[in-house]
Amino acid sequence: MNINTKILNARDKKDAKFLRKKTAKFDFKKHTKSEITKLVSQMKAIMLSANGQGLAANQIGLNSSVFVAQVDGKFYAVFNPTITKATEEKDTWQGEGCLSLPGVTAPTYSPAKLTLEGQDKNGKKLKIKAWGMLALTFQHEVDHLNGKLFIDRRVVNS
Ligand SMILES: [Zn+2]
Repeated sequence: MNINTKILNARDKKDAKFLRKKTAKFDFKKHTKSEITKLVSQMKAIMLSANGQGLAANQIGLNSSVFVAQVDGKFYAVFNPTITKATEEKDTWQGEGCLSLPGVTAPTYSPAKLTLEGQDKNGKKLKIKAWGMLALTFQHEVDHLNGKLFIDRRVVNS
């Protein structure tokens, strides 16, 4: 896997086209354990150097369903994630941003609580219940992997 260290920018036409495509399922059979470890550590490094708290693989040009996140000092790497439960109740956020939309923030809403299911880096099933900032981050990253940007669907109408 060739990893692009540049984060795609949704203002670029070509990048935007890629960002708005749903990613392919991550196939554990096609990658060695060391490749996967390297992918996770590189994505983490790119995210942290950009001062982000989440990064989806398609933001660095990989058509693959995986994201990394770091919230409250805890690091997550989730493969083939889906949100399997979400509350009707929403939290609102003053200014959500995105590494692919530099300089853009908007007030948004997202489920107050949700359940994320997917796989860890060993392909083992995982299930995480999240609320607050962690729920928002998971929602944001799963949106990315589905080809959606936060400005597409979760902006509070003022
Ligand atoms: Zn983003």
